[in-house]
Amino acid sequence: MKNYEIIDKLYFEHTASKAELVALINTISDEELEHLRKKAQQTAQKYYSNKVYIRGLIEISSICKNDCYYCGIRRSNTNAVRYRLSEQQILDCCDTGYSLGFRTFVLQGGEDGYFTDDVMCRIVEQIKQKYPDCAVTLSLGERSYESYKRLFSAGADRYLLRHETADRTHYEKLHPSEMSHSNRLDCLYRLKKIGYQTGAGFMVGSPYQTTENLADDLLFIKNLNPQMCGIGPFIPHKDTPFAKFPNGSVWLCLMLISIIRLMLPSVLLPSTTALGTADSNGREKGILHGANVVMPNLSPLEHRKDYSLYDNKICTGDESAQCISCMKRRMKSIGYEVVTDVGNYIEP
Ligand code: SAH
Repeated sequence: MKNYEIIDKLYFEHTASKAELVALINTISDEELEHLRKKAQQTAQKYYSNKVYIRGLIEISSICKNDCYYCGIRRSNTNAVRYRLSEQQILDCCDTGYSLGFRTFVLQGGEDGYFTDDVMCRIVEQIKQKYPDCAVTLSLGERSYESYKRLFSAGADRYLLRHETADRTHYEKLHPSEMSHSNRLDCLYRLKKIGYQTGAGFMVGSPYQTTENLADDLLFIKNLNPQMCGIGPFIPHKDTPFAKFPNGSVWLCLMLISIIRLMLPSVLLPSTTALGTADSNGREKGILHGANVVMPNLSPLEHRKDYSLYDNKICTGDESAQCISCMKRRMKSIGYEVVTDVGNYIEP
């Protein structure tokens, strides 16, 4: 099949075979990518018009028990500055966010044992009580079925847990042997079963990744059918074993955003901070390639630079108010509008 036919198949049937995806990714021309981009943008606009949903990202802890080779807050990184927000600080971030127009709060962090189910449930309950018109998204890594269930009962609406890679062998090159690929995937099935709006995703250009891996990631996502999907380029962190690996390609990341948009037409698809870090106009380009969500930082200014997953992360020196006004301006410059809306998933 020619690339144009594969793109049309993705557009009309929302699927493609592994061989077709590999061929498309490996041989797409600039002209074909522009065709793909237009189809993806058109698909996003069918559901979400020119609206961009915002999520306020609150990075609650840089303490992590895991040792992922790519991540700057891995436990073995003795140079990492560790912090943990207090319950009050988290609630204060939500107050600031609410007044800036955020209606989704994303609580993300390392796997920090302090945030037990009791602690997290109390935080989620307080946010939901104060702001019943807001969604709470958690991104706290792997937990048990019971734990996810309790957090959901406490009022959490959504959960982000990137699968990182659908291929077990590749997963084992990115993580120490104590971490389990099958548990990571099981967590995603648990979350979906419980009823969360669930987000999967992966890094683009992570070390040892092949085009076949990417095709498997796309097919895994197609099969899981999550409500959200986050992807961004791998960016090395100087104090990790992957310090010397190159950045993931922005061009490839944009292509994959477009393919994901066509495979899951109404998915909530963020244009990520990593994309904005790898390319100063990366977030705008992501939206133009079919993304429909951005996640400005709502973390307290004094801790931002310490949630350092990769080098040169943007927006670590700005107040939340600056981040949101910068984002509004950026989106307006490409004809899009940041909206104050809880921004739930729409069924296709
Ligand atoms: N502890 C949580 C949150 C992880 S941080 C969890 O396990 O889900 C969120 C995402 O940042 C990760 O899922 C990973 O895909 C991404 N990330 C981590 N290190 C990165 C790097 N060096 N470059 C780009 N993205 C990275």
